[in-house]
Amino acid sequence: MAALGIDLGTTYSVVAALDAHGIPQVIANREGEILTPSVVYFDGESPLVGSAAAAAGALSPYDCVELVKRHIGDGSWRCVTAGGNYYTAEQVSAMVLRRLAVDARTRLDEPCSEAVITVPAYFDDARRRATADAGIIAGLDVLRIVNEPTAAAVAYGFGRSVGGAGEPVTVMVYDWGGGTFDVTVVHVAGSEYQVLATAGDRNLGGYDIDNALMLYVDEHVIAQGGATSLDSDVAELMLREKCERAKRELSDIGETTVTVEDGRRTYRVEVTRPGFSELIHPLLQRTEEIVTEVMVDAGVRRGGLYAALLVGGSTRIPAVTRMLHRVTAARVRHDVHPEEAVALGAALLADHLSSQRSKGVSGGSPTESDRLVVRDVTAHSLGLIARSPQTGAEINSIVIERNAPLPARGRQRFHTLAENQDEILVVVTQGEDTDPAYVTVVGSARIPIPPSDESVEIDVVIGY
Ligand code: ADP
Ligand code: MG
Repeated sequence: MAALGIDLGTTYSVVAALDAHGIPQVIANREGEILTPSVVYFDGESPLVGSAAAAAGALSPYDCVELVKRHIGDGSWRCVTAGGNYYTAEQVSAMVLRRLAVDARTRLDEPCSEAVITVPAYFDDARRRATADAGIIAGLDVLRIVNEPTAAAVAYGFGRSVGGAGEPVTVMVYDWGGGTFDVTVVHVAGSEYQVLATAGDRNLGGYDIDNALMLYVDEHVIAQGGATSLDSDVAELMLREKCERAKRELSDIGETTVTVEDGRRTYRVEVTRPGFSELIHPLLQRTEEIVTEVMVDAGVRRGGLYAALLVGGSTRIPAVTRMLHRVTAARVRHDVHPEEAVALGAALLADHLSSQRSKGVSGGSPTESDRLVVRDVTAHSLGLIARSPQTGAEINSIVIERNAPLPARGRQRFHTLAENQDEILVVVTQGEDTDPAYVTVVGSARIPIPPSDESVEIDVVIGY
């Protein structure tokens, strides 16, 4: 029974599984596509998912939900359909997952339900849990939630090891997708993967590139005497589609034209590649800052990387390759398929976990995939809210630093504040700031302690 690797993307999702020879293969959906748009259209009882949803949504945007991954883990977010129904981000994501799994089962002609689902490395605990919940709602047996860049590195490592294991190397995974940006440095030694550092921006993707181009085109239409497209949802969506297409064209050709009709006239706006590069410069610059930061965290100098792997549709923009080569001096590799690598790596990990699980039950001899070892890091610091004895102000006190290898363990000593204090409030946080207002609370508990008339030392240990 095949175990599925699912890349649940912000804009596109991909599913893969190992074939009879143990090679990971992506699985086409019922429309024959490798990339299933992560779009749901609410049409009466049964929702449409994928391209059909995207097409229907172009005509009636109010019943269409996209980019739901930006909201997953936010318990208060709801999408409201024109019919007045409410759905959580987990429920919408589950619809996409269920579609991917149903189509994969049909293609493979197998009742597969075990799956590894990938998430951006910087997803916090709430987002990871919500993603796993979406899998459960979709009827999947979620083997593990795995970081997307780690999965991409596994796919790359598998490709390298096919022709012999090769020297241990350090590689960077630069993933720029539709909604998010993520960069990770991984040490690969045979089938052992050790993540050294990771960072990202969860609101930096192709969608933001489209926005920049839309603003540019809209301004030029107005300059030619036309009306803005940005005060009507339908006109805005049409402009978005045109600009997204123009952006893709500019990855292959030097210039293109966006045409906009306002009911009276047609306006033509020329966009050249240099003009486009200028438009997206601030976004590319932001990814460069994060790349530099992660190299410092991973302890690799310029020239110290064996390769930089491009993952995500937005890395098809030529300026990305130039920037990455300038900053890292690494070979920028296009040999992992930017849209497929994450799902392929997830399929390798799913097969590994599934066979380990069944071996646990039945025993059996070790296979190639048994040797797969993945050591990840925590993308965020973990800490506790404490009160400063000097000022009395609440501070976030970090116990496990970000980028600590997992499983991680940290210990810190605190003191009671009052005489005869009979309980402590333990508030566990995720985030880098010392100000509690800028970190996320993972959970909290009141723990009783024996009262004492002196200050009591309390050691807190966090294991992750
Ligand atoms: P996800 O964020 O869902 O993982 P992908 O990695 O598939 O998504 O990336 C989708 C993004 O890539 C979209 O914003 C899309 O417009 C963009 N994209 C796809 N092909 C190209 C291209 N040739 N040039 C520029 N951007 C592209
Ligand atoms: Mg992606």
